[in-house]
Amino acid sequence: MVNNTVAKFSIEYYQYLNAQGELINPTEKLPAWAQDFATLQEAYRMMVLTRAFDNKAIALQRTGKLGTYPSSLGQEAVYIGIGNALEKQDVFCPSYRDWGTQLIRGVTMGEILTYWGGSERGSDFQASTAKEDLPNCIPIGSQCLHAAGIATAIKLRQQSRAALVTCGDGGTSQGDFYETINISGVWQLHLVIMIVNNQWAISVPRKSQTAAETLAQKAIAGGIPGEQVDGNDLIAVQDRVSRALKKAHEGGGPTVIEAITYRLSDHTTADDASRYRKKDELAEAWQNDPITRLRQYLFLHQAWSENEEKQLQQICSEQVAKAVDAYQQQPLESPENIFLHQYATMPTSLATQRDEFLAKQQQQG
Ligand SMILES: [Mg+2]
Repeated sequence: MVNNTVAKFSIEYYQYLNAQGELINPTEKLPAWAQDFATLQEAYRMMVLTRAFDNKAIALQRTGKLGTYPSSLGQEAVYIGIGNALEKQDVFCPSYRDWGTQLIRGVTMGEILTYWGGSERGSDFQASTAKEDLPNCIPIGSQCLHAAGIATAIKLRQQSRAALVTCGDGGTSQGDFYETINISGVWQLHLVIMIVNNQWAISVPRKSQTAAETLAQKAIAGGIPGEQVDGNDLIAVQDRVSRALKKAHEGGGPTVIEAITYRLSDHTTADDASRYRKKDELAEAWQNDPITRLRQYLFLHQAWSENEEKQLQQICSEQVAKAVDAYQQQPLESPENIFLHQYATMPTSLATQRDEFLAKQQQQG
């Protein structure tokens, strides 16, 4: 009999900083962009702003001023890293926890609040850099196929740009995810598929999600490279995503990156994670907080001070408060708008419903 190994693979894991903000390998040089403290300080500011926004948004939901809201607590390095790595010409295809990236794309806090307040006006991004980005995608995993479609258009037009899609750990169990992996390999699409592995799909832990040792290795079956990155290490995330995007721009094909992070919050404001998650696990995960890690790195290199930290906290809460004020003063959306935006041309059945609704509204005066 013949018994040869016909395929072998390995999955690399990338990390620069440990949880204490120290270089894992002190003799190794950071990527050139990360040697500039001003660049890292700016990334740090955005991570702190993201968390300040999160806190305020949850408070708004609790007081009935915002709808169900998904916090990104603990995942700030993933979203800010992606945002910084994306080039203006790229297309960002988010799921629904990704507004840290959206902020960097130029989406305003007001638009984000408007969306989570229940109005599609919040998806009509005004910034030129976000005009072609997709709106949030709530169904699990379907955004992967949307991104594959966009990446196909990019390839057909022979453009030097890429689509980047984010997908949760749970989303990688969906057919849409596998189909995306498959077609992006066959067609060598300009696509980066980011798996944001925050260890939980609502109440389903990672170990119950799949028997696969890593989520990144799912790429291998589609013939495309997959790797892991420490999702709580801003430098590692931004560097790996930048490299994957550059490769895609140059027609080098797709990449899957699994960012290992942790959801420190409930799934959304409609969830109570204390019912299924052990306190010890959460306490341990806090030891890995991405914001503390980058701050420690900056502190260790005299590139940040207690005073700057105090000022930053103040600036962020003022910025968020200003956005919240503007959001709350916004005129309410007409209920009629619920009928819009589903079709380019409204079908008769829907138009009839709208007319009935308007007639009823008029009757009620
Ligand atoms: Mg998850």
